[in-house]
Amino acid sequence: MKLAARVGQVTPSLTLAIDSKAKAMKAEGVDMCSFSAGEPDFPTPAHIRAAAEQALEQGKTRYGPAAGEPKLREAIAQKLQKENLLCYGAENVVVTNGGKHSLFNLMMVMIEPGDEVIIPSPYWLSYPEMVKLAGGTPVIVPTAADSGYKITPDQLRQAITPQTRLFVFNSPSNPTGMVYTPAEVRAIADVIVENDIFVVADEIYEKLLYDGAEHVSIGAVGPEIFDRTITSSGFAKAYSMTGWRIGFLAGPVEVIRATIALQGHSTSNVCTFAQYGALAALEGPQDCVGEMLQAFAQRRQVMLDAINSIPGLSCPKPDGAFYLFPSIEKTGLNSLDFSNALLEEQQVAVIPGVAFGADTCIRLSYATDMDTINKGIERLEKFVRSRA
Ligand code: GLU
Repeated sequence: MKLAARVGQVTPSLTLAIDSKAKAMKAEGVDMCSFSAGEPDFPTPAHIRAAAEQALEQGKTRYGPAAGEPKLREAIAQKLQKENLLCYGAENVVVTNGGKHSLFNLMMVMIEPGDEVIIPSPYWLSYPEMVKLAGGTPVIVPTAADSGYKITPDQLRQAITPQTRLFVFNSPSNPTGMVYTPAEVRAIADVIVENDIFVVADEIYEKLLYDGAEHVSIGAVGPEIFDRTITSSGFAKAYSMTGWRIGFLAGPVEVIRATIALQGHSTSNVCTFAQYGALAALEGPQDCVGEMLQAFAQRRQVMLDAINSIPGLSCPKPDGAFYLFPSIEKTGLNSLDFSNALLEEQQVAVIPGVAFGADTCIRLSYATDMDTINKGIERLEKFVRSRA
């Protein structure tokens, strides 16, 4: 059957595919260890669930504004002002079906055929596909482990052409977990302003920081960069709300109005009662975030030490998110062969680095329980040793 050309060039999401496969194998009774999708294993905190249940009871089951519930837009704007020092009002915010939807909408609203979008690699696998779906051209700038997998201002400057429209900035990073320092954020902001391009700041992992790492929103660095920034985030990672599908986009009013128009003809409002859960997440106690973070910090250390003790694997220490991105180069396998064989022989699910533009690495999420981590790492070690 003939399909539209725009879908012909899109690669299906490997994170979702491998995660679904791992979950299905587990449901069939296979003794699985999954480090695939970045999905916290904790239940959504009780007060958030209760707020959504109450909203259901109160009949908040009807259509709402495509832009999102006014109270939630306001609460998001307040959060962005207080925590991120971004001077957004409710009119600068649109509620979306998760962080992925925010980014997709943004590409639809801003990118045209011929436009270039600069994406440092390793990158989250959906960025280039979204750019292609919008008709734009992803321009991939490779970064290496010895530079902390961070793009330098010079690299960014060199990648900019008259066609450059947007730079995708993701800190803390998925898949590497690296966090740009405040000075590095400022230096990147300078290049964006000098060249008069836009930046989308994907800040979905902003609350997941370790060892004193600091998150600075690039849009807060100064008024000139603020005008050129669109901030994307969501509730999934910090509040363990992956299945709720609630995210947001904040930026110049023109971008937000266009996104609302797009949603008005595509998704309409995000699930109404779920938005009341998100409101409770922002307005309620924040201890739950700290508790989950503490657990992630412990798991990160255990997993990192274990991986670095396996001959043939090496992993830099990440300061944020909940991923490790070790090199498997010394095993002589490419990332897809490595991941497929590991799944088949040891029932351990990881994401091949090739999905993120780095075929010498694999990604492991440590947002899972300690038993799975211990068992999975033991199997991983066995697998790597069997290849030595
Ligand atoms: N963002 C998460 C990940 O990278 C969830 C899966 C996805 O949406 O790609 O694992």
